[in-house]
Amino acid sequence: MIYAANFKTNHTRKSTALYMQTLNEKLRAKNPEDKVYIFPPSTALEKYVGDFTVGTQNAYPAHNGAYTGEIGVEQLDEFDIKTILIGHSERRELLNESQENVAAKFSFFKAQDFEIIYCIGEPLEVREKGFEAVMKYLLAQFDGIDTEYEKLIVAYEPIWAIGTGRSATVEEISSTHRALKKAINEKPLLYGGSAKPANIKEITSIAGVDGVLVGSASLDAESFFQMISHQ
Ligand code: PEP
Repeated sequence: MIYAANFKTNHTRKSTALYMQTLNEKLRAKNPEDKVYIFPPSTALEKYVGDFTVGTQNAYPAHNGAYTGEIGVEQLDEFDIKTILIGHSERRELLNESQENVAAKFSFFKAQDFEIIYCIGEPLEVREKGFEAVMKYLLAQFDGIDTEYEKLIVAYEPIWAIGTGRSATVEEISSTHRALKKAINEKPLLYGGSAKPANIKEITSIAGVDGVLVGSASLDAESFFQMISHQ
């Protein structure tokens, strides 16, 4: 299983360092087959040593240049970061990243040989229209995306389940993952949206779920480790 923690705009450089240390001590007990990713805010990127991969929540598709407020490959190289989240619904919605922007970012970081966790998800009004509408919406989020890319991991994150405490049901996750797995040639597929210690066992037992992308419940190292080590 894959367990990915997205801190978003939470944690400082100091609290992230403490988190990494605390988590890494606990990770000695993890199943060696499981893989852990941490996406701290950009100000907390560092060459952390541990049984996890550190990625960036975002970057501009350039090595360097005049892109005020952004970071590029040169800044990521300093910390050996070779993993990136692309297409998160918060960036699509709050920062107005269009499918075209997202696809351009994907192509650039693919060319840099980055591992890409590519996020897709539908809003509630689409989910309420039914499964067919959901799949049409989700598949459109693969426009311009190379689903054959060998370092691609997809995260299905229904927007209405993110940060709301309301996870999708087993049936919703199961049917959506089954259809998505075919569309992405069986690439690893994570579920994200209010995953937490109380529902991790149920979610990870669903066929077609290869792991989870976790926001709120990942902010505390103990809670995140409870998810990683659930039986
Ligand atoms: C996310 O934003 O990627 C996410 C899954 O958040 P949460 O776990 O808080 O719903």
